[in-house]
Amino acid sequence: MKVLVINAGSSSLKYQLIQVDTGDVIAKGICERIGIKDSKLTYKPAGKTPFELVQDMKDHIDAMKLVLDALIDKEHGVIADMREIDAVGHRVVHGGERFAESIVLDDDVIAEIEALSDLAPLHNPANLMGIRACMQIMPNTPMVAVFDTAFHQTMPEKAFMYGLPYEAYTEYKIRRYGFHGTSHAYVSGRALEYIDKPVEETKIITCHLGNGSSISAVKGGKCIDTSMGFTPLEGVPMGTRCGDMDPAIVTYLMEKLGLDRKGIDAYMNKKSGMLGLSGVSSDFRDLDTAAREGNARARLALDTFAYKCKRYIGAYAAAMNGADAIVFTAGVGENDRAMRYEITRGLEYLGVELDEEYNMTCPRGEEVIISKPTSRVKVIVIPTDEEMMIAKDTARLVR
Ligand code: AMP
Repeated sequence: MKVLVINAGSSSLKYQLIQVDTGDVIAKGICERIGIKDSKLTYKPAGKTPFELVQDMKDHIDAMKLVLDALIDKEHGVIADMREIDAVGHRVVHGGERFAESIVLDDDVIAEIEALSDLAPLHNPANLMGIRACMQIMPNTPMVAVFDTAFHQTMPEKAFMYGLPYEAYTEYKIRRYGFHGTSHAYVSGRALEYIDKPVEETKIITCHLGNGSSISAVKGGKCIDTSMGFTPLEGVPMGTRCGDMDPAIVTYLMEKLGLDRKGIDAYMNKKSGMLGLSGVSSDFRDLDTAAREGNARARLALDTFAYKCKRYIGAYAAAMNGADAIVFTAGVGENDRAMRYEITRGLEYLGVELDEEYNMTCPRGEEVIISKPTSRVKVIVIPTDEEMMIAKDTARLVR
């Protein structure tokens, strides 16, 4: 079965055509600058010559047309006809409390996703643009929505409630939702293969560390807590997001800096985190370089990040009465060896023994165990694959 996976942003549209039965990615790419001048399509077919096309795309419908043209192109194409695409899987950021699982899209589901836009104003409307464009161009192809929040819907009330008046929850839906759910679901599922226990008894801490980062506690295969909250701003400090802080800082800074709602939002989402702490960059590679060259604030940013990640691991080990595995994934988790060392250093009390040498030399892009064979807690690097997860869920639902 061939599934087209779509991840639509406000001005971009990422796509992957996946043969679900073999796990092969047949073609992938991205449309960028949609609705802006000089839009660009990047197209990478497996085993054929990739190409780029600069051509204005006024909306997501134009973008989807170009993607399909590329897929069926005589020279570069990977399928003969659009009808070879059996289903489309759409990434949707916010499923609220309504969607604890992926679902086949119809008008009612679309209306409900639209109603949730209030909780994710930057993301859900953009995701809907992708959905509507596909529905218009491929009206007879079944479509599925896969939600970033769904995996976290198993959290117990005590984990998702904030210490606010209860009405904040009932009236305004304020609670922890958590994000990166597809990634946490994928890597925790993969980690089960390395743990010699029935699923119900497993305790896994998943660290999705990238430009955005979140850490989850997965007990018996179900998420019981996660570091991102009502929005993706909560948790460890990120590339440009501040992460956890005293909420009183918000009003204090608004007053001191004369910021309105939008201003403080940008301050916390775009100017904070690793970028704000270091004054150098939001990119961990730049920070590693700067820290090695003696930049004290870059060092501070990296140390702060490692420390906050370690605290979450400790908290989730407490929540689950231990852990069988700690999983690292995403850009930083999969690649930044020094950061993995810093985060796991000093967790011997928990039963973590990192194989320091192998951590520094293990291959990239593969699933590898980087703890010693004697380690009670396995430390595993698992490259995340959200697209494959979306494709599989889509195939399961439409079959
Ligand atoms: P993601 O959001 O998962 O794409 O991750 C992006 C982050 O991964 C960026 O901050 C990069 O600095 C980081 N990253 C990617 N490759 C490396 C690397 N080799 N070493 C350190 N950080 C890396």
